[in-house]
Amino acid sequence: MTLPTALDLAQAVRTGERSAVEVVEEHLARVEEAEPEVHAFNLVAGEEARAAAAQVDARVARGEDPGPLAGVPLALKDNLCTRGLPTTCSSRILAGWVPPYDATAVSRAVRSGAVVIGKTNLDEFAMGSSTENSAFGPTRNPLDPIRVPGGSSGGSAAAVAAGFAPLALGSDTGGSIRQPAALCGVVGLKPTYGVVSRYGLVAFASSLDQVGPLARTVGDAVALLEAIAGHDPADSTSLDRPAPALSGCLAQGVEGLRIGVIQELAGVEGIAPEVGARLHEAADALAGAGAKVDEVSVPATMWGLPAYYLLAPAEASSNLARYDGVRYGLRLARPDITSMYEATRSAGFGPEVKRRIMLGTFALSAGYYDAYYGQAQRVRTLIIESFAAAYERFDALLSPTAPTTAFPLGSRTADPLAMYLSDVCTVASSLAGHPALSVPFGTGEGGLPVGIQVMAPALGEPVMVRVGAALEDLAP
Ligand code: GLN
Repeated sequence: MTLPTALDLAQAVRTGERSAVEVVEEHLARVEEAEPEVHAFNLVAGEEARAAAAQVDARVARGEDPGPLAGVPLALKDNLCTRGLPTTCSSRILAGWVPPYDATAVSRAVRSGAVVIGKTNLDEFAMGSSTENSAFGPTRNPLDPIRVPGGSSGGSAAAVAAGFAPLALGSDTGGSIRQPAALCGVVGLKPTYGVVSRYGLVAFASSLDQVGPLARTVGDAVALLEAIAGHDPADSTSLDRPAPALSGCLAQGVEGLRIGVIQELAGVEGIAPEVGARLHEAADALAGAGAKVDEVSVPATMWGLPAYYLLAPAEASSNLARYDGVRYGLRLARPDITSMYEATRSAGFGPEVKRRIMLGTFALSAGYYDAYYGQAQRVRTLIIESFAAAYERFDALLSPTAPTTAFPLGSRTADPLAMYLSDVCTVASSLAGHPALSVPFGTGEGGLPVGIQVMAPALGEPVMVRVGAALEDLAP
């Protein structure tokens, strides 16, 4: 199945060669056919999408330009607020809640002409690596339905891989855009912290959360990132500077760039041999294209996982305190307020969310704070310093995105630690606030896709995108 890129579709709609309504219908037809098996969506917004597409067509008919993403169907992870459309975070605790506003990333994508076709499934509150922690049942990998799509943006990655939408938005706290992109054979980009507004993204771990694109090509991912990036006064952590221009970087090649392969992640525990082999092929291919490629040790990357799994739950325990049965969604009636809180939170949250809230509350509690939360913060600083040393010698770094290809449903649900190991390659750049990109590069076990992760220092998106586009061209 070779499908047109988002940019090709937008071009056809802008010139009047194709109507946006016809483009949306074509995608909704694919949804109707395959969605019962894949379950990428919590909500398919067919009528709203048809109406929005008709407006795009009307603008073209009036001689206006609806924008660089004109008429391109866009799937939204269901933790991005959408005015008038339920936003569930795949949790029962938000049952019946309809946001009164759009997330900034959503309104910006729509302003660029994109047409929202639905809200995609995720691990509850984005906590997970397989989309099996959804209150509404798992999403399946469209390439092999006995396998997971990765997570937590598994619905968004599956929607792109299945041809339901050429573009999707996900969120990434410790790998949730990149790892599902790798497992589904699509491109996923986590921007530098602060490049994309978090306004209207339901918070998981606020010092790590970023919104970013999933797409079938690096060029499409960049087009969506350019549409959503840039300062937003509604998010105090959004960077007060223009977003980096990226589309011009795509064809610049890698001649002369210094690229380091992170030793610790290339040989990480549990890595599948084929994944290691693809990483070395990718490194050789980049060297063949003129990059200076070498191995580099970034020792603190190995401490990413323990630091992340203290800091992210600590922030989550605080962020999720707001679901108290009073302000949002579910409420179980009880005679007094304490038992109402208890009953609502016990019924509303799934087991993984409860585990994180307990872990995080413990890590923040008096007497343990310094040994756990404080120590993890110090490790975070070491990771930043370890990367800084590597970036003195290298422009970009390379690793696998995930240690294995897509794994069978149910195979890691009984063992949270095995599941957490899926994130071993992605969490370090999240803790550092750096951008990272996953690009499909060949296959591994069972012919399933392997993703290569390209990392760059803060605001290094231009060089990251150059390397990513080169890898895409060089991929077997
Ligand atoms: N899989 C990681 C976790 O469970 C990352 C999740 C994310 O990036 N949202 O926390």
